[in-house]
Amino acid sequence: MSVDRFGLGDWWPRPEQAAAGALDRLPADHWPMLAAKWLAAGFDSEPLRRLAQLQIGESLASRRADRRGSRGGGWAQPVGLPLPIEAQRIQRRFRAVQDAMDLMPEVLRSIGFDPAPADEEFLARCQTAVDIVQHDLDATGYGRYQMRARFVGGWPSRVHATLPDGSWGEGMSRELEGSWLLVAAADSVSGALKDVEEIEWPVCAVHGGHPGHIWHGRDPVDLIKKVAWWRCTNTGHRLAPVGQLTAGTARTL
Ligand SMILES: [Zn+2]
Repeated sequence: MSVDRFGLGDWWPRPEQAAAGALDRLPADHWPMLAAKWLAAGFDSEPLRRLAQLQIGESLASRRADRRGSRGGGWAQPVGLPLPIEAQRIQRRFRAVQDAMDLMPEVLRSIGFDPAPADEEFLARCQTAVDIVQHDLDATGYGRYQMRARFVGGWPSRVHATLPDGSWGEGMSRELEGSWLLVAAADSVSGALKDVEEIEWPVCAVHGGHPGHIWHGRDPVDLIKKVAWWRCTNTGHRLAPVGQLTAGTARTL
């Protein structure tokens, strides 16, 4: 992939693509360069200028400057220890990436492309998947655990299945659809119950869960021939497709 003077490759999202979710494919440390692209393309606003000016610290220009500096070699580099200056650079970079993620929604709105509708659609799609998993919670007597899909942002942006006290794991990403999304939703629900409530769910009616520890069993959910299935975490056999769990196949509360 060729890299242009902005440090981006051949592909870069236009603002309307970015607002529709395409930023999930471009790491946030590239967003200031992307903002410079948009400025060059004629978009303009104060937040856009601020984003373009964020110093991520890993630009090609700064890497070139670093190489020049180290060749000059005025100081001896200790071996095996991170340099204070390197630690500072990492911290600055981390802050700048956070700033870019905080700033981007405002940037998009300021130039007329609101990311909220696409994010809401993404969230609604995930809630639909979580609702299917909720059916299984209800069917096994775990209906007191009401799972809500929550947009957690970040890069790439994520939705988690959450309880009031928290969530767990990778959650759901925008590119997931159909059975893949259902697997991620089921994994997110099962993980949240382990992490927040310290309970294993679902548990095979015949074999129970892992005899040692709730985190030691097999993965509870899997994609088998394009269908999301619950598996027995003790022996690995199939319990039921996600959304079709019954009190006969899994232990009830
Ligand atoms: Zn079993």
